[in-house]
Amino acid sequence: SVRVRFAPSPTGYLHMGGARTALFNYLFARKEGGTFVLRIEDTDLERSKPEYTQVILDAMEWLGMTPDEGPYYQTQRFDLYKEKIEELLSAGHAYKCFSSPEELEADREKALAEGRKPMYSRKWRDRSDHPDGEPYVVRIKMPLEGTLTIDDMVQGTVTVDVKELDDFIIARSDGSPTYNFVVVVDDATMNISHVIRGNDHLNNTFRQIPVYKALGFDIPTFGHLPLIDGLSKRKGSASVQVYREQGFLQEAIVNYISRLGWSHGDQEIFTMGELESFFGFDHVGRSSSTFDQDKFLWVNSEWMKRLSPEELAKRWLPYLQEAGYSVELNDRLIAITALMRDRVNTMIALTEESHYFFTEDVTYDEKASKKWLKAGGLEGFGALVERLSALEAWNADAIEAVYKEVMAEFELGMAKVAQPTRIALTGATTSPSVYELVATFDRDVAIARLQTGLA
Ligand code: GLU
Repeated sequence: SVRVRFAPSPTGYLHMGGARTALFNYLFARKEGGTFVLRIEDTDLERSKPEYTQVILDAMEWLGMTPDEGPYYQTQRFDLYKEKIEELLSAGHAYKCFSSPEELEADREKALAEGRKPMYSRKWRDRSDHPDGEPYVVRIKMPLEGTLTIDDMVQGTVTVDVKELDDFIIARSDGSPTYNFVVVVDDATMNISHVIRGNDHLNNTFRQIPVYKALGFDIPTFGHLPLIDGLSKRKGSASVQVYREQGFLQEAIVNYISRLGWSHGDQEIFTMGELESFFGFDHVGRSSSTFDQDKFLWVNSEWMKRLSPEELAKRWLPYLQEAGYSVELNDRLIAITALMRDRVNTMIALTEESHYFFTEDVTYDEKASKKWLKAGGLEGFGALVERLSALEAWNADAIEAVYKEVMAEFELGMAKVAQPTRIALTGATTSPSVYELVATFDRDVAIARLQTGLA
């Protein structure tokens, strides 16, 4: 059965590249009826932080990629790693190396000076004359001759000459195991069938294969995902968390990252359900993809239109609260959402664009206020406000009828009344359609603002 895993290191937020790796694993598991495992690779004690683990877990859940199993933590598995190191030592697949750091450094410099690739001399590989009480590291024996080949789900057949591979360290002098070793122990003992990860791990894969063999484990199938250009690696930027704060919806993030390396005909917008049924490695390409911020914004704006106004309003609430507005989910907020969402492409922009619904006083921009002064003296505007305040039903149709009536009676063009209305209500000269706009305000607020121009 298919068992895949996402194995983030908790040394920062969940980067969009990491989220894409997680998503492809998740989708593959769903498609194949498999299991999606989460493993936290927290062996780097200095850089790993529990709060990052929490941020990663939250981001995955928010995106709807909740693991079926885990999280497992590498720091809770040190006994197992120790056991496996002992096993390799006693089987002769690994050996103790007593070369001092100074000696290794001298070898390295010599190799560089002679134009060779620096590699460990393998001096201790077949020796038993171990010095007593001296510190040592444990190294794995790499094969000395031949090639290693994988049939990668994405990259196709990839072959490496073993001469490229060093007898790398699997346990440091303090006994702690190293990354390329623990990953193998974990993937094998967690019965991972497909290791799907970024192409930056391709070199590690060839180091890891001899470890599988030495431990007598089956070698999983590998899939190395193409890299993503144009994503900042700076700490925290380009993370799921940051995009969430910038007002991207989880559907849009999932949708957008699914398309970084995968395609399904011309279709651009996908629900998670569609992704779960369409996704497959036959359409994951080998060439790197480019993160396109404008496209991402477009996908987000599409999703803002696809959710129901109720749902979008619900998602909007925390952004409004963050902006300091005390609002609640009610019909008016839903009406504002419906009116404004087509005009913006993020939740933050929705908040900014809609500010005049939530503040008590309108701030008039300069251009607007000059026009507004003229509007005060507009013949018919007083009648308009009066009739609006006398309306029985407060809705766009009834409001439109009043405007039409006043415009006919006072022979006014639409622009003559629409512009001062906009300015009075929003402080600016652009806004959604006037009747909807007026109707979306509470009547008292609308009338009060319209009257300020008459003073
Ligand atoms: N912890 C590794 C990383 O965050 C992942 C290694 C893997 O997927 O094998 O890059």
